[in-house]
Amino acid sequence: MPDLIAAAAAAGVERMVTIGCGRDQSEQAVALAEAHPEVYAAVGVHPVDAGRGHWRDADVAWLRDLAAHEKVVAIGEAGLDYFHERTAPEDQPRAFRAQGELAADLGMPLVIHTRDAADDTMAILRDLGLRDVVLHCFSIPEYLDEALERGWTISMAGPVTFPKNTALREAATRIPVDRLMVETDAPYLTPVPLRGTRNQPAFVAHTLACVAELRGEDVRELDRATSATAARVFGW
Ligand SMILES: [Zn+2]
Repeated sequence: MPDLIAAAAAAGVERMVTIGCGRDQSEQAVALAEAHPEVYAAVGVHPVDAGRGHWRDADVAWLRDLAAHEKVVAIGEAGLDYFHERTAPEDQPRAFRAQGELAADLGMPLVIHTRDAADDTMAILRDLGLRDVVLHCFSIPEYLDEALERGWTISMAGPVTFPKNTALREAATRIPVDRLMVETDAPYLTPVPLRGTRNQPAFVAHTLACVAELRGEDVRELDRATSATAARVFGW
Protein backbone atom coordinates (compact mmCIF):
# COMPACT_ATOMS: atom_id res chain seq x y z
CA MET A 1 0.00 0.00 0.00
CA PRO A 2 2.78 2.55 0.72
CA ASP A 3 4.07 1.84 -2.82
CA LEU A 4 0.68 2.70 -4.30
CA ILE A 5 0.50 5.90 -2.25
CA ALA A 6 4.01 6.90 -3.32
CA ALA A 7 3.17 6.17 -6.97
CA ALA A 8 0.03 8.30 -6.64
CA ALA A 9 2.03 11.17 -5.15
CA ALA A 10 4.52 10.90 -8.02
CA ALA A 11 1.59 11.16 -10.46
CA GLY A 12 0.43 14.37 -8.78
CA VAL A 13 -2.34 12.90 -6.62
CA GLU A 14 -2.31 14.93 -3.43
CA ARG A 15 -5.28 13.45 -1.61
CA MET A 16 -7.39 10.34 -2.00
CA VAL A 17 -10.36 8.63 -0.41
CA THR A 18 -10.29 4.92 0.34
CA ILE A 19 -13.61 3.18 0.73
CA GLY A 20 -14.89 0.68 3.25
CA CYS A 21 -17.33 -1.92 1.96
CA GLY A 22 -18.29 -3.42 5.31
CA ARG A 23 -17.11 -3.24 8.89
CA ASP A 24 -13.66 -4.84 8.53
CA GLN A 25 -12.84 -2.87 5.40
CA SER A 26 -14.15 0.35 6.91
CA GLU A 27 -11.90 -0.15 9.94
CA GLN A 28 -8.99 -0.88 7.60
CA ALA A 29 -9.77 2.26 5.62
CA VAL A 30 -9.66 4.36 8.79
CA ALA A 31 -6.37 2.72 9.86
CA LEU A 32 -4.87 3.47 6.45
CA ALA A 33 -6.05 7.07 6.67
CA GLU A 34 -4.53 7.35 10.12
CA ALA A 35 -1.19 6.10 8.85
CA HIS A 36 -0.99 8.30 5.73
CA PRO A 37 -1.65 12.05 5.72
CA GLU A 38 -2.78 12.05 2.06
CA VAL A 39 -5.37 9.28 2.59
CA TYR A 40 -8.92 9.87 3.85
CA ALA A 41 -11.63 7.31 4.46
CA ALA A 42 -15.27 6.71 3.68
CA VAL A 43 -17.06 4.16 5.84
CA GLY A 44 -20.06 2.16 4.79
CA VAL A 45 -21.70 -1.11 3.84
CA HIS A 46 -21.63 -1.68 0.10
CA PRO A 47 -24.88 -2.80 -1.54
CA VAL A 48 -23.22 -6.02 -2.70
CA ASP A 49 -22.40 -6.84 0.92
CA ALA A 50 -25.87 -5.83 2.03
CA GLY A 51 -27.28 -7.97 -0.77
CA ARG A 52 -25.37 -10.94 0.60
CA GLY A 53 -27.25 -10.58 3.85
CA HIS A 54 -24.46 -8.79 5.74
CA TRP A 55 -26.52 -5.76 6.74
CA ARG A 56 -27.93 -5.43 10.24
CA ASP A 57 -29.80 -2.32 11.30
CA ALA A 58 -27.48 -2.18 14.32
CA ASP A 59 -24.61 -1.51 11.89
CA VAL A 60 -25.52 2.15 12.07
CA ALA A 61 -23.91 2.21 15.53
CA TRP A 62 -20.42 1.19 14.44
CA LEU A 63 -20.72 3.36 11.33
CA ARG A 64 -21.52 6.33 13.53
CA ASP A 65 -18.56 5.58 15.80
CA LEU A 66 -16.13 5.23 12.89
CA ALA A 67 -17.50 8.34 11.19
CA ALA A 68 -16.44 10.41 14.21
CA HIS A 69 -12.80 9.86 13.27
CA GLU A 70 -11.19 13.03 11.94
CA LYS A 71 -10.01 11.34 8.73
CA VAL A 72 -13.45 10.01 7.81
CA VAL A 73 -14.94 12.32 5.19
CA ALA A 74 -18.01 10.46 3.90
CA ILE A 75 -20.49 7.65 4.41
CA GLY A 76 -20.47 4.97 1.71
CA GLU A 77 -20.36 3.36 -0.65
CA ALA A 78 -24.07 2.88 -0.21
CA GLY A 79 -26.69 2.30 -2.86
CA LEU A 80 -28.10 -0.48 -4.97
CA ASP A 81 -26.41 -3.12 -7.11
CA TYR A 82 -28.69 -5.47 -9.01
CA PHE A 83 -25.85 -6.77 -11.17
CA HIS A 84 -23.73 -8.53 -8.59
CA GLU A 85 -25.76 -9.88 -5.76
CA ARG A 86 -29.39 -10.31 -4.95
CA THR A 87 -29.53 -13.14 -2.46
CA ALA A 88 -30.98 -10.71 0.09
CA PRO A 89 -32.42 -8.01 -2.20
CA GLU A 90 -34.63 -6.43 0.47
CA ASP A 91 -31.54 -5.66 2.55
CA GLN A 92 -30.04 -3.39 -0.10
CA PRO A 93 -32.60 -0.57 0.19
CA ARG A 94 -32.65 -0.94 3.99
CA ALA A 95 -28.88 -0.52 4.19
CA PHE A 96 -28.99 2.33 1.67
CA ARG A 97 -31.70 4.27 3.50
CA ALA A 98 -30.12 3.78 6.92
CA GLN A 99 -26.77 5.07 5.66
CA GLY A 100 -28.46 8.00 3.94
CA GLU A 101 -30.19 8.96 7.17
CA LEU A 102 -26.91 8.63 9.06
CA ALA A 103 -25.08 10.84 6.55
CA ALA A 104 -27.80 13.48 6.86
CA ASP A 105 -27.67 13.28 10.64
CA LEU A 106 -23.88 13.67 10.66
CA GLY A 107 -23.82 16.35 7.95
CA MET A 108 -21.52 14.19 5.81
CA PRO A 109 -21.67 13.40 2.10
CA LEU A 110 -23.16 10.08 1.02
CA VAL A 111 -21.14 8.26 -1.64
CA ILE A 112 -23.45 6.36 -3.97
CA HIS A 113 -22.77 3.10 -5.77
CA THR A 114 -25.42 2.17 -8.33
CA ARG A 115 -25.32 -0.60 -10.90
CA ASP A 116 -28.23 -1.83 -13.02
CA ALA A 117 -30.47 -0.06 -10.51
CA ALA A 118 -30.63 3.56 -11.64
CA ASP A 119 -34.39 4.07 -11.31
CA ASP A 120 -34.63 2.55 -7.83
CA THR A 121 -31.48 4.36 -6.68
CA MET A 122 -32.91 7.67 -7.82
CA ALA A 123 -36.25 6.97 -6.16
CA ILE A 124 -34.60 6.35 -2.79
CA LEU A 125 -32.32 9.37 -3.14
CA ARG A 126 -35.30 11.60 -3.93
CA ASP A 127 -37.10 10.19 -0.94
CA LEU A 128 -34.10 10.78 1.34
CA GLY A 129 -33.93 14.37 0.07
CA LEU A 130 -30.17 14.61 0.47
CA ARG A 131 -28.21 17.39 -1.18
CA ASP A 132 -24.74 16.25 -0.11
CA VAL A 133 -24.42 13.31 -2.49
CA VAL A 134 -21.51 11.99 -4.56
CA LEU A 135 -22.42 9.78 -7.51
CA HIS A 136 -19.30 7.62 -7.50
CA CYS A 137 -18.09 6.00 -10.74
CA PHE A 138 -20.80 7.90 -12.56
CA SER A 139 -22.72 5.62 -14.90
CA ILE A 140 -26.21 7.12 -15.27
CA PRO A 141 -25.92 9.96 -17.80
CA GLU A 142 -29.69 9.76 -18.29
CA TYR A 143 -30.02 11.26 -14.80
CA LEU A 144 -27.27 13.87 -15.08
CA ASP A 145 -29.62 16.85 -15.32
CA GLU A 146 -31.61 15.82 -12.28
CA ALA A 147 -28.43 15.07 -10.30
CA LEU A 148 -27.10 18.55 -11.07
CA GLU A 149 -30.44 20.17 -10.22
CA ARG A 150 -30.38 18.42 -6.87
CA GLY A 151 -26.93 19.77 -6.11
CA TRP A 152 -25.08 16.47 -6.26
CA THR A 153 -21.45 15.94 -7.23
CA ILE A 154 -20.44 13.69 -10.11
CA SER A 155 -17.31 11.56 -9.86
CA MET A 156 -15.93 10.18 -13.11
CA ALA A 157 -13.90 6.97 -13.18
CA GLY A 158 -12.25 4.84 -15.88
CA PRO A 159 -15.39 4.18 -17.96
CA VAL A 160 -15.36 7.78 -19.23
CA THR A 161 -12.13 6.89 -21.03
CA PHE A 162 -13.73 4.00 -22.92
CA PRO A 163 -14.55 5.21 -26.45
CA LYS A 164 -17.81 3.25 -26.68
CA ASN A 165 -19.33 5.09 -23.69
CA THR A 166 -20.58 7.96 -25.81
CA ALA A 167 -23.40 9.11 -23.52
CA LEU A 168 -21.09 9.14 -20.51
CA ARG A 169 -18.43 11.05 -22.42
CA GLU A 170 -21.00 13.58 -23.56
CA ALA A 171 -22.17 13.96 -19.95
CA ALA A 172 -18.60 14.71 -18.88
CA THR A 173 -18.67 17.84 -21.03
CA ARG A 174 -21.82 19.20 -19.34
CA ILE A 175 -20.87 19.08 -15.66
CA PRO A 176 -19.89 22.39 -14.04
CA VAL A 177 -16.34 22.05 -12.68
CA ASP A 178 -17.47 22.80 -9.15
CA ARG A 179 -19.59 19.63 -9.30
CA LEU A 180 -17.02 17.40 -10.98
CA MET A 181 -14.46 15.03 -9.47
CA VAL A 182 -12.32 12.21 -10.85
CA GLU A 183 -11.47 8.88 -9.24
CA THR A 184 -10.09 5.47 -10.09
CA ASP A 185 -12.41 2.99 -8.36
CA ALA A 186 -9.17 0.98 -8.04
CA PRO A 187 -8.50 -1.87 -8.39
CA TYR A 188 -11.32 -1.95 -10.95
CA LEU A 189 -12.06 -0.17 -14.24
CA THR A 190 -8.54 0.77 -15.28
CA PRO A 191 -8.61 3.78 -17.61
CA VAL A 192 -7.43 3.85 -21.20
CA PRO A 193 -4.55 3.44 -22.13
CA LEU A 194 -3.72 1.05 -19.28
CA ARG A 195 -6.65 -1.36 -19.60
CA GLY A 196 -5.69 -4.93 -18.79
CA THR A 197 -3.55 -3.89 -15.84
CA ARG A 198 -4.70 -3.61 -12.21
CA ASN A 199 -5.96 -0.11 -11.49
CA GLN A 200 -4.32 2.06 -8.82
CA PRO A 201 -4.69 5.66 -7.56
CA ALA A 202 -1.87 7.01 -9.76
CA PHE A 203 -3.88 6.14 -12.86
CA VAL A 204 -6.48 8.81 -12.09
CA ALA A 205 -4.20 11.14 -14.05
CA HIS A 206 -5.34 9.34 -17.24
CA THR A 207 -8.99 9.82 -16.38
CA LEU A 208 -8.39 13.49 -15.67
CA ALA A 209 -6.52 13.93 -18.95
CA CYS A 210 -9.34 12.24 -20.86
CA VAL A 211 -12.03 14.40 -19.26
CA ALA A 212 -9.99 17.54 -19.95
CA GLU A 213 -9.67 16.54 -23.58
CA LEU A 214 -13.38 15.81 -23.91
CA ARG A 215 -14.16 19.22 -22.41
CA GLY A 216 -11.50 21.02 -24.42
CA GLU A 217 -9.94 22.34 -21.22
CA ASP A 218 -6.41 22.66 -19.93
CA VAL A 219 -5.58 19.60 -17.85
CA ARG A 220 -3.80 21.61 -15.12
CA GLU A 221 -6.78 23.91 -14.74
CA LEU A 222 -9.16 20.98 -14.55
CA ASP A 223 -6.83 19.35 -12.04
CA ARG A 224 -7.05 22.43 -9.81
CA ALA A 225 -10.81 22.73 -10.26
CA THR A 226 -11.63 19.08 -9.50
CA SER A 227 -9.27 19.18 -6.53
CA ALA A 228 -11.13 22.24 -5.25
CA THR A 229 -14.43 20.40 -5.70
CA ALA A 230 -13.11 17.45 -3.71
CA ALA A 231 -11.81 19.77 -0.98
CA ARG A 232 -15.25 21.33 -0.64
CA VAL A 233 -17.19 18.06 -0.77
CA PHE A 234 -14.93 16.20 1.63
CA GLY A 235 -14.09 19.19 3.81
CA TRP A 236 -10.30 18.82 3.78
ZN1 LIG B 1 -18.80 1.36 -6.42
